Amino acid sequence: MEFVYIIRFGEIWIKGKNRRFFEQALEQNIRRTLKRGGCNAVLESERGRLYAVESGEAPGETLELLSRIPGIVSVSVGVKCERSVKSLAENGLALMQKMGVVPVSFKVECKRADKTFPIPSPQLSREVGEYLLTHGLDVPVDVHHPQMVFGVEIQQNGAYAFCKTLRGAGGLPVGVSGKVAVLLSGGIDSPVAGYLLQKRGATVEPIYFHGFPFTSDMVKDKVARLAKRLAFYQKCLTLRIVNFTPVLTALKKQCPEKFTIIVMRRFMVRIAAEIANRTGCRALITGDNLGQVASQTLDNLECVTDVSPMMILRPLLSFDKFDIIEQAKKIGTYEISIEPHEDCCALFVPKFPEIYGKLVEVREAESGMDIEGLVTECVETVEKMDF
Ligand code: ATP
Ligand code: MG
Repeated sequence: MEFVYIIRFGEIWIKGKNRRFFEQALEQNIRRTLKRGGCNAVLESERGRLYAVESGEAPGETLELLSRIPGIVSVSVGVKCERSVKSLAENGLALMQKMGVVPVSFKVECKRADKTFPIPSPQLSREVGEYLLTHGLDVPVDVHHPQMVFGVEIQQNGAYAFCKTLRGAGGLPVGVSGKVAVLLSGGIDSPVAGYLLQKRGATVEPIYFHGFPFTSDMVKDKVARLAKRLAFYQKCLTLRIVNFTPVLTALKKQCPEKFTIIVMRRFMVRIAAEIANRTGCRALITGDNLGQVASQTLDNLECVTDVSPMMILRPLLSFDKFDIIEQAKKIGTYEISIEPHEDCCALFVPKFPEIYGKLVEVREAESGMDIEGLVTECVETVEKMDF
């Protein structure tokens, strides 16, 4: 059987001059994702619509795969039919059988994109519904809460019947909004922060600060797997691993304990900004969340922002942990993030950390350190991993 995936994308961005640019980016992303996912579906573009056509016994992962691509609003799996009630209903029934869809109730929803088609949508819904009821779909119609929506679309080039629709990721196609650097730790938050930027069209370049032997190489492996998850959504991705040990060692020796976390963060930002600059990234992204831990008070965030020569965006700042976790589960990073690991910050958390850091004091606390030398050393020894 030939399955057709009907791909719908946002109406807002398809308007105006950028339309072709956005569409091309989305098409490329879909082609690449399908290939990576091992699907043999072929993408077709027709009159501003996208369809993926796949032959086989039953649709595999393709529907789920498509629904996770940023820029897609919803996607249905269906069959192409002739523009008649009989063809729509019969092909639709065959599709349901192939897919093992056995609903307890249903309703028909029609969309007549081609207005030259003579039957208006409400009448078409009724006629298709009646045909289904008398030809094997022996379940009640429920117009308010149907378990299955039997969809029909009438286009110029043909008609489609479909029985399963998934909501898409929404947002914009990755690659249309420039590049940003994500400070990626092994935690739950930062991968989600990165994904949210991808969903607004940005390409992400993750940077991880590795503090061996304070943190083991297992954390590095974990971060690499998280980066790979994000790589799924974009053309290619380079994870940069900063050897942060010189900074951590200097912190232990030269920084008053209660300021270690803030000063450590200031170093991360300085180094990340320098790398971002060299790699054409326009902003730093962190998984900071207001008030979540002692280092994330407004005072402390201000002390960290103080050293950044470029924008720091914190997309999760106002999120509840519950929502972050839910998002992490959706993109498949949660299971990796919760694996136990020692993060270098946790190891350095002082007994009495400064919660309301004052800039003057923080600057004073790091004044004994060779800031420029340490930043240069870290930037020069970055290790790269390509996905
Ligand atoms: P996450 O779950 O992302 O680790 P968190 O709640 O544990 O967040 P913190 O550990 O305070 O928060 O870190 C705040 C942010 O600083 C992280 O979201 C991340 O963007 C950045 N960060 C912290 N540690 C590292 C690291 N080792 N490498 C890269 N970025 C880091
Ligand atoms: Mg963390």
